[in-house]
Order: sequence, then C-alpha cells, then structure tokens
Amino acid sequence: MSTATDSFDIEIAQTSRINEVDFENLSFGEIFADHMLVCDFKNGGWERPQIKPYQNISISPSASVFHYGQAIFEGMKAFKDHHGDAWLFRPEDNFKRFNKSCERLAMPAITKEYFMEGLHKLLALDQNWIKPGAGNSLYIRPFMIASQAGVIASPAKEYKFMVICSPAQSYYSGEVRVKIAETFSRAASGGFGYAKAAGNYAGSFYPTQLAQAEGFQQVVWTDANTHQHIEEAGTMNIFIRIGNTLITGPTSDSILDGITRKSLIQLAKDNGINLEVRPIKVAEILEAHKNNQLLEMFGAGTAAVVSPISGFGYKGEKYEITPQEDSYATFFKKTLNDIQYNLSPDPYGWRVKAY
Ligand SMILES: *Cc1c(COP(=O)(O)O)cnc(C)c1O
Repeated sequence: MSTATDSFDIEIAQTSRINEVDFENLSFGEIFADHMLVCDFKNGGWERPQIKPYQNISISPSASVFHYGQAIFEGMKAFKDHHGDAWLFRPEDNFKRFNKSCERLAMPAITKEYFMEGLHKLLALDQNWIKPGAGNSLYIRPFMIASQAGVIASPAKEYKFMVICSPAQSYYSGEVRVKIAETFSRAASGGFGYAKAAGNYAGSFYPTQLAQAEGFQQVVWTDANTHQHIEEAGTMNIFIRIGNTLITGPTSDSILDGITRKSLIQLAKDNGINLEVRPIKVAEILEAHKNNQLLEMFGAGTAAVVSPISGFGYKGEKYEITPQEDSYATFFKKTLNDIQYNLSPDPYGWRVKAY
C-alpha cells in the first residue's frame, strides 16, 4: 500500500518481521524495524521524503561517501511507558547537532520538518517495535551520506538523509576498564571531533583494539596537543568525581557536545551536586587516586546513560576505583531513566511524544 500524506510518501510493509524477533535476546544494532526513511538531496534541494519498508539501497561504487567520507549520524532513543505512550528525549537537540555536523562536513542541512516529522511518522508506523519495560527502547539512527557518483575530491552535490531504527535492551557493559591514551587521539584541535562524523569512529577503532588486547574495554581520549587533559571515554563524554566534586571537561572542537552530558550537568545543579566544568588533567586523576579521593569515573551517552568505570591504565600502571555505595552514577542513571520512561515528572520539558 502506498499513500501520500502531506509532504511524505509512505509505503507500508506488506508483512511485519516483528514476530521473528526475540526481544529477550537482542544484541545491539543487528535487527531493524520494518520501515525506514529516505530523502534525497539533488539539484540544490531536498526531494520528497519517503517512508518505506527497510531494504537495501542502490548506490554507485564511485559515490563520494566511499572515497572522501562525507558521512554523519545521530543516535537517539524512543521509550514506551506503562500506558503505552512512547517518548523521545530532547529530540530537537539531536536535530540541531545533526545540522552542526552537516555544516562541518560541508553537507546540506536537513529541514526541521523532514527530521522531526519524519521521526514521528516513522515511529508511529513502527510503534510496536518500542517495547515497554525497564531498559527497553528503540534506538534511532538518523544519518546522511554523500551519494553523488564520481571520485571528485570536493563536497558532493547529492546526498541521502535516512533514518533506521533498531530495538535495544538495557545495556550491560559489565566491568569497564579504560586505558588513558598516551599517544593516540580521537580528535585534533581544529578538526571535527565535535561533529558526529563517521570518520571519528573509524579512527578510534585501531587504538581501541590495541587497548582491548591489553585487557581494557575502552580508551579514554586525551587532548591531541599535550595528551595531558582528559577528553572523552570511548564514544561517551566523561565525568570524574574527586571527593564530592564532579568534574567534566568543557565542550570544544574536539569534544562532542553530548545531550546526556548536558542533562547530567543540569541534574547535578538542581540536586546539590558540586559540579565543575573545566579541563581535567591526567595528573590530577593520578593524584586523587593516590589520596583515595578518586571516587568515581563514568562515561555519559545515549546508549547506556551512564557507564561506570571500574579501573584505568596509564603508562603501564593499573589503577582500581573502589565502587561507591551511593554513587552519583547510579543517581543520574535512575533520575534520567525515570524521566525518559515517564516514571517521574519532567520539569525540564525534555520528554517529547514520539508520535
Ligand atoms: C554520541 C557521542 C557522545 C554522547 O552524546 P549523547 O548525545 O549523550 O548520546 C559522546 N561522545 C561522542 C564521541 C559521541 O559520538
């Protein structure tokens, strides 16, 4: 069945694949909901967006994305409450960041209507893929690639904006030990670390593999110029608790402006947690550890909300962090999850109907 509603063309899947999915045993990002959104940029403008059954796309092997890497994305989640209503978390912030990433990679901005209305229409169609219950969500992946054929080293003239969705369960990362980077960098000053660009990820895999071979799960990135300041934990923003002070680095051109990070900053302010936003030195962390004042380290991001770090390695030494009884990490995770799942009031207006 194919219908045209206002500015979208919608083709509904003949049969749903939902009954083939074991929602109790999902591995992250491998299964996709019935529908996807596709919108093409050609001749200087966005064409009519289409919502259609999830399927392969056809693209020239010379398409710019394969050669020069113009590719950016977002990561967000839809949550379902016990009344059956579904919610997004601060989706306009994802929209704005998406276009910031586009600008940095010389890609055209997507319109707010196509991004937001596209999400609402897609989620309404695939609403059964959003499962209620703690930890369950539908992970949403908007992305844009340069699709123009031709190995021409300049910004492409044609792009595809797409949205795909993947059901997710709560994210148990187990014990996370990190290696503090001594020579590698995720992002350079003047580079595009602040953009959610595919290339930032490509460059991080190899140093992460090396750290994993040493028994760590992730790399804590340090600044490219001196490697003396902490920037991010893997693909998450990082928070350090020294005594009862919580510290996170300021956003910069090499630190991604995480929506979870800024939500935690707000929650800290409103819940009497002493928070400092300032550069964090590796030396300061070592010193705090020595004085038994390094109480917590955790990553913050959409996938897990917070991901506690139980130890780190630096210059051949290994350091453990003793688990805290009433950790800030646990407080933040519960407070944010309760807002996301509509289990608590949302004084901030962060929760937005998914459709
Ligand atoms: C996506 C991402 C984050 C987390 O951002 P959220 O908006 O909180 O999900 C942090 N760091 C990097 C490098 C990222 O790509």
